[in-house]
Amino acid sequence: MKVVVIGGVAGGASTAARIRRLDENAEVIMFERGPHVSFSNCSLPFHLSGIVPTTDKLIMMDPQQFKSKYNLEARVSQEVIAINKERQTVTVRFVETDEVYEESYDKLMLSPGAKPILPAVQGIEQRHVFTVRNVVDIERLQRYTQFSAVENIAIIGGGFIGVEVAENLHAANKKISIIQRAPQIMKPYDDDMAQIMHKEIMDANIDLYVNADVAKIATDHIVLGDGQIVKADAVVVAIGVEPETKLAQEANLEIGKTGGIKVDGNYVTSDPAIYAVGDAIEVYHQVLHKPVRLALAGPAQKQARVAADHMYGITNRNRGVIGSSSIRIFNLNCATTGINEKTAKEAGFQADSVYVIAPDKVGLMPSSNALHLKLIFEVPTGKILGAQAIGKGNADKRIDVIAMLITMGGTIEDLKDVELSYSPLFGTAKDVVNMAALVATNISYGRFKQVHVSDVRRLYEENALFVDVREEKEFANGHIKNALNIPLSQLRERMAEIPKDRAVYVHCRSAQRSYNAVMALLNNGYTQVKNVSGSFLGICLYE
Ligand code: FAD
Repeated sequence: MKVVVIGGVAGGASTAARIRRLDENAEVIMFERGPHVSFSNCSLPFHLSGIVPTTDKLIMMDPQQFKSKYNLEARVSQEVIAINKERQTVTVRFVETDEVYEESYDKLMLSPGAKPILPAVQGIEQRHVFTVRNVVDIERLQRYTQFSAVENIAIIGGGFIGVEVAENLHAANKKISIIQRAPQIMKPYDDDMAQIMHKEIMDANIDLYVNADVAKIATDHIVLGDGQIVKADAVVVAIGVEPETKLAQEANLEIGKTGGIKVDGNYVTSDPAIYAVGDAIEVYHQVLHKPVRLALAGPAQKQARVAADHMYGITNRNRGVIGSSSIRIFNLNCATTGINEKTAKEAGFQADSVYVIAPDKVGLMPSSNALHLKLIFEVPTGKILGAQAIGKGNADKRIDVIAMLITMGGTIEDLKDVELSYSPLFGTAKDVVNMAALVATNISYGRFKQVHVSDVRRLYEENALFVDVREEKEFANGHIKNALNIPLSQLRERMAEIPKDRAVYVHCRSAQRSYNAVMALLNNGYTQVKNVSGSFLGICLYE
């Protein structure tokens, strides 16, 4: 079999390597229009801070190594400019000379990825405006920002790439601004979780502009829509990516509603001899039950393996994607899986969420820290829809456990029972994921009721009664205006101070003491008590 692969990085290189493992005699030619194949896109931002000291470290394998180790032909600086379906050939252009030739295939794999979106803004074409997609891009950006005259750098876009570039340039002693059009950065996270990220970013002395539009890029500054000026000797645009579908479109391959190339469960396009994987395609979302676009390395590589297998008649079960990702933001590790609460509601799920803040290790251990975990589940089935975790410790481990359960169609009951490894150095006997599930099952079975931190402002304006069960000293440091302070340690003696005939909202710092207070009140005949789920730190009404 002769297989031609378009794109020589995540999906493309994985396809080629898998084919070789399946078939020693296959002829495999991989075309890459850039000068490098098989580089770590995900590590690109880390060159800006020196974590990856030189760009050659970003390249995992060059064409010579592909040849010697896998007997694969990687043709770099050669762009496929047309797919000739009827002849089963591709037209290839040498990038340096513009010469063209045709190469035939039995099977064709498209893994051309996605390109950065450039907004139609005045000044976008200037040489101090950058995007980050490949090794050449990061070399250019790094070289430019090394000039001492380049002090202020503005990042347009607060997604994964924007935030990672910001952090790494900050580590290189640059003064950074992030400009984000939406009210929050990091769209996969709900706004309550994103606030923690915002704080971390601002604490690092990065200027964060949200709800901000770019009106103009000038040589040393950006003008925002509302007239504010943001200093910028260099600008990095990272507002998202769009799938590279030009070749597919010109070859009349079917494009899905999301704008990605349409494929079946084996990644076969509308032409049976042509496969497509990675950022260029649309994929079935296991939770949303509809096609989505998902630009992540793990799915691209796994899809490549499935597609290569299919070329050789090997079947794989395709469950679809769930969208798991992680990022470090300064001192915080952040991870998410499945869908967030906002998406769940928009998609019409009857969904609820719990938000727990629990130690990631036994509190006596030196590196124990609070972990914020939000769990989203369907009502009344308890099926887990998604989760987000943020903390200094292993947020990714917690999210990976939940990702596993979502993949298996698991529920909050399953998560409550899952037995995880434990030592005080690694976790707590009842891990934070178990705790979140316990709270979720309590809520589901109506054992107590909750409101979310995001409801607090509305309730306050409706003159609701808040009981703050933190200690007096904590209360003195800041509290919700007009809240009644009855520390949990005094609750039983002072219960009579809490009226029985009106709704009462109990809160503390992390919703744990307040949960105990709520249960005590319920067991003493109070019927209108609710716990405020989430952190006091998320309530912005305190005095
Ligand atoms: P790519 O890996 O982009 O490869 C496509 C290649 O095809 C490109 O090199 C392109 O030049 C080539 N090509 C396109 N058209 C042609 C043509 N006509 N002829 C020849 N060659 C062509 N994902 C994560 O999961 N975690 C992360 O932490 C993460 N961090 C990232 C950080 C950065 C800076 C970037 C840019 C991406 C990151 N990603 C991350 C996303 C991840 O890299 C992509 O999802 C993944 O690489 C997609 O694989 P792909 O094969 O579809 O496309």
